[in-house]
Amino acid sequence: MTGHATAVGENLIGGRAPRVLILYPNDERLAANAGAGAAVRTQLLKGTGGKIELFSEFLDLSRFPEEEYIERMAQFLAIKYADRRPDVVVALGEQSAKFIVEHRAALAGNARIIVAGFRSTRGKMDLPPDVIGAFSEFDIIKTAEFARHLHPNAERLFILGGSSEFDRWGMETAKTDLAEFSKNYVTTYLEDLTIEEFVAKAATLPSDSIVLALTIFKDRNGRNFLPHEAVKQIAATATAPVFGPYSIYIEYGSVGGNVVTFEALGNTAADLVLDAIHGKPIKDVQAPRFDVADARQLKRWGLSEENLPPGAVLMFRQPSFLEQHWLVAIIAFAVIAGQTTAIILLLLERRRRRTAELEARHRLLEVVHLNQSAMAGALSASIAHELNQPLGAIRSNAEAAAVVMKSACPDLKLIEQILADIRDDDQRAHDIISRMRGLLKKRSEIEWQEFDLNELTATAIKILKGEAARRGIEVSSKRGGDRLPVRADKIHVQQVILNIAINAMDAMAKTGKERKLTLETRLTKDAKAVLSISDSGDGIPEGKFATIFEPFYTTKSSGTGLGLSIARTIVETYGGSIMACNGRDGGAVFRVMFPLAQTETT
Ligand code: ADP
Repeated sequence: MTGHATAVGENLIGGRAPRVLILYPNDERLAANAGAGAAVRTQLLKGTGGKIELFSEFLDLSRFPEEEYIERMAQFLAIKYADRRPDVVVALGEQSAKFIVEHRAALAGNARIIVAGFRSTRGKMDLPPDVIGAFSEFDIIKTAEFARHLHPNAERLFILGGSSEFDRWGMETAKTDLAEFSKNYVTTYLEDLTIEEFVAKAATLPSDSIVLALTIFKDRNGRNFLPHEAVKQIAATATAPVFGPYSIYIEYGSVGGNVVTFEALGNTAADLVLDAIHGKPIKDVQAPRFDVADARQLKRWGLSEENLPPGAVLMFRQPSFLEQHWLVAIIAFAVIAGQTTAIILLLLERRRRRTAELEARHRLLEVVHLNQSAMAGALSASIAHELNQPLGAIRSNAEAAAVVMKSACPDLKLIEQILADIRDDDQRAHDIISRMRGLLKKRSEIEWQEFDLNELTATAIKILKGEAARRGIEVSSKRGGDRLPVRADKIHVQQVILNIAINAMDAMAKTGKERKLTLETRLTKDAKAVLSISDSGDGIPEGKFATIFEPFYTTKSSGTGLGLSIARTIVETYGGSIMACNGRDGGAVFRVMFPLAQTETT
């Protein structure tokens, strides 16, 4: 048959692409066939650079084992492939092998047949010698060693096998092969049992046991099984881990073993196909074996992944959350990172704003204090004058008292009166000083407080009175309403009033008209407390109503131009507003407006 192989090889590659038909015994969803078939296809496409025609047929023989169906299927395929006879047929598993061997004449003509399956297939089916196979060997020792690796503390070994001829052959082989290995364990061979007995026995094993499942094609009662189905029943309720030398067991409850994977089997078969296509001689080969474990079973039995022999393949490992949901995780991470960045930026911004606010407040307090000093300077002459009055009175009263005391019969009532006057004058002096001290006090923080704008205006008038008198100015006031509660720093607002009033007095310095300073408060309909300060000076030049509030704008030789700018900053700090205009009689009018304090409005 080597001549045949040569014909398939060079001739085909020269003329047309080789045709390979892959026969699957079941439908396409069976993992075992699909895995091997996919490996064959991939390997063939790779090995021929895509210059190959691949055909697949899913025979579905397990579900349709009837002779008639099989015959009709063969006839149908013979017609289907009449003009495209395959050069090579790859039969996956025993059933496909049997099918093609029986129908090769009608279906495949001279095609080369390559089988992928277990070694037992060849023996059982008595395949013709020109049917070559990629087979998997039965090797129980490697599986036993694999089990020992994973379950190092086990003390007992149970080997179970069925009652078919093949099962018995397997069991005999195992006994010989495991003669040495089993010496380390209390070993029991479980054979000649019914499936129920196998299941019951496995369900009572001590946990320090290793179960090696060989094949169970038949039980003692003669019931037929697919070995993996029997293993499935046994492993389901077993109380010790079950190992087996067949990869298919892994999907049915076995922890694993030294097995041929479907992929390895497929690859090996594909290598044979490629050799056949290229006209090389081929013979049966053994597919490579691997230690394969089922991660789910390791977990079930508490066996550590770390005890897997080097190079072992771990199947059905649950992907970690990250592996499973990597896209979601990346998006979530990006969102969280984005949010974190945004939060950090917002915090930084908040801090920056807070720092800026603190700095601004600090600067405000600084300039306000500077302005306080300037104002105190402006008022110092009148304050000194004001203080002089009570001090002078005290002095004259003291002198008068001394005179009375020197008399032969001092009038004690008179002395009592004089002392009372001295106390009153002292109180006046004290009041003047404490008003000034309050005005000059440097603040490190704004003191929010609720106060009555009417009362504050009255205090301001007391402070100004002396200076106004000195300058020949008549001060008058009008109260709007009983109380005008405002929330702000009282001293700052008083400073605003004094600033505007001193400016007003300055503005009347050269006027020939009667000098009048009026402070008038009122409550507006929209709940605002308003203080108007008007004078009888020449007023503000047209077009300068806004300019006068700008820093450093001054028309005075010794002015700083800061008074009104500071006044506006203060008023706005407390949510108020300030504006200037000229009154009907030509003098300037300054209006300071504050929102009425909420608590007092009801
Ligand atoms: P300064 O008093 O140091 O000049 P201000 O900011 O307090 O600084 O005032 C700015 C300017 O506004 C004054 O120089 C003056 O020209 C003008 N001004 C302020 N008040 C009045 C007023 N009552 N009448 C006319 N002009 C005024």
